[in-house]
Amino acid sequence: MKPIGVFGGTFDPIHYGHLRSAFEMLQALDFEEVRFIPCSDPPHRGVTYATAAQRYRLVEVAIAEQPGFVADDRELERGGPSYTVDTLATLRTEFPDRSLGLIVGMDAFLGLPDWYRWDEILDTAHIVVAHRPGWKAPDIGVLGDMISEHGTHRVSDLHETTHGRVHIHAVTQLEIASTEIRDLIAAGRDPRFLMPDAVRDEILELGLYKGE
Ligand code: ATP
Repeated sequence: MKPIGVFGGTFDPIHYGHLRSAFEMLQALDFEEVRFIPCSDPPHRGVTYATAAQRYRLVEVAIAEQPGFVADDRELERGGPSYTVDTLATLRTEFPDRSLGLIVGMDAFLGLPDWYRWDEILDTAHIVVAHRPGWKAPDIGVLGDMISEHGTHRVSDLHETTHGRVHIHAVTQLEIASTEIRDLIAAGRDPRFLMPDAVRDEILELGLYKGE
């Protein structure tokens, strides 16, 4: 059985950087699907600019045409702080025998030691790190140790075991950030070509990120 990719984030809003990374993972790692899981209450970020329901809606619109992309609202349903370790536990209950691959960008991976019960993540899932512009894999510290102990270059390891490996995978680098998109919209400019047109249209329709 092919692995399920688990892609969590604020997605405030979702853009082509997220979508292209997830698509390359889906194809190159031969995943069954990638589940996009917007957080309701991001423990590390504090404020969001669109509500959880709006961010989820933008994800739905963004991925509607892509087979293998799934919008997953379990963190919205659960409420409270969105801890990845809890999300993975619910996925593990739902898919007891599946390989699960938590997809994170390199910036997110470097912040992993601040996550709630981060050192338990590999007990439930693999971690798949997407290279992002300007970020280098750590070779020292707790993450350096994690990579030397659990790292693998072999995609087949992600298929043959259900959890416990760290795989770093280069993806096409699209230097797009949600922060810049929000700033651009607040400045009255058009975010076209940074995201699917359907997402742009939905943002305009909902009147999001105008900065008031
Ligand atoms: P912001 O600009 O508000 O910080 P973000 O897009 O970096 O937003 P999230 O939506 O929380 O933040 O990101 C979700 C996941 O997507 C993270 O793992 C992050 O590393 C990854 N990611 C974000 N932008 C890109 C990009 N341009 N290319 C690849 N991965 C990305």
